[in-house]
Amino acid sequence: MRGLRAPTVFNGERFLPGGATVIVADGVIKGVESAAYAVPDHCPVTAFGGTMLPGLFDAHVHLVSDSSLGGLERAGALDAEAVDEIIVQSLRQQAVSGVTTVRDLGDVGYRTLAVRDSSRVGLPRIRAAGPPLTVPDGHCHYLGGVVDGPRAIRAAVLDHEQRGVDVIKVMASGGMTTVGTDPFGVQFDGAELRALVDTAHGVGLPVVAHAHSLAGIRQALAAGVDGIEHFTGLTETGIRVPDDVLDDVAAAGVAVNPTLGFDSGLFASMPAPPQALSASLKRIGLDLETAQAARLAVLRRAHSRGIQLVTGVDAGAAPAKPHGIVSLAVAALTEGGFSIVDAVTSATAVAARACHLGDVTGRLEPGLDADILVVDGNLANDITALQRPVEVLIRGDPVAPQ
Ligand SMILES: [Zn+2]
Repeated sequence: MRGLRAPTVFNGERFLPGGATVIVADGVIKGVESAAYAVPDHCPVTAFGGTMLPGLFDAHVHLVSDSSLGGLERAGALDAEAVDEIIVQSLRQQAVSGVTTVRDLGDVGYRTLAVRDSSRVGLPRIRAAGPPLTVPDGHCHYLGGVVDGPRAIRAAVLDHEQRGVDVIKVMASGGMTTVGTDPFGVQFDGAELRALVDTAHGVGLPVVAHAHSLAGIRQALAAGVDGIEHFTGLTETGIRVPDDVLDDVAAAGVAVNPTLGFDSGLFASMPAPPQALSASLKRIGLDLETAQAARLAVLRRAHSRGIQLVTGVDAGAAPAKPHGIVSLAVAALTEGGFSIVDAVTSATAVAARACHLGDVTGRLEPGLDADILVVDGNLANDITALQRPVEVLIRGDPVAPQ
């Protein structure tokens, strides 16, 4: 048994006035008491000066990629041992940054599931989708999840279920990182996507759809998906997500993960933004900055309708998206006008619920796993505190520094 005490404590949903003492035993939170709580004699207490909060989620990662240029594509050609090494390294980078749970939405060869099930101490909990389902030559086809036609779609979903995935990921639109695919369009027809979702739901699996295009968002909604990734709203006339679409997202309870967050220093070190990305934006007269502003405006309208916003970086997908920068995705929300509470909630309690782990982690609450992050600074008025982790516990086990 041990105690952790801090003057500022965010419990996953709100700040607790006056701080708190959190009691941990056997990997589980046993109590969340006042800062002045007199702990039992046998219980050592560490008093921190900063902010204590639940460990963070990165709800969109590609553990098989080291985030180097073309890293995701290369993973599709590596042997299992090499892929496993990258997965563990990615997890370490996530862990030391304060991430205690990742949701992997783009695996190769089901290696992420193998690592998930190998119970490595001190590495983040994994929710895994296996190889994402896509059309022939479609977005991320090189990860091995190509399906062609309704029969193959159903078979692939059932095969994923047999192998033990936690969620099905489908590429509803093309993507920026796969040459020859169209992020403005759709990849499947509506009936195919419905068959995919119905089959997944039939075996109890949620579905999240990658959708950059407005057409892809609409199609995913009509098919009944549970979450939409990116949610960019690309149309030939700009970034546009009309009110009726947002109303449908809210009514359906679909969680949106805008995959914000990138390391601008890494962007600057590259000769130019990735070609496909800049080409896509140029096609509609936008650059990175104006596109980001337009996206944040969409997210504010989404939030005002009560839509659940989840934080995930798309870590591993590109050089500007390394593992371990979820704090920047949270900060991007506050820069876009969100309160610190709403922004951090999107990476804790809301993310946990969206990943169907709300009764396991994501809050400082007795009975939940002891996934705890302590950061340097007062998070209540300084979002950059999230970039300064000083202690990370995953199921009560301290994460070894790198
Ligand atoms: Zn992705």
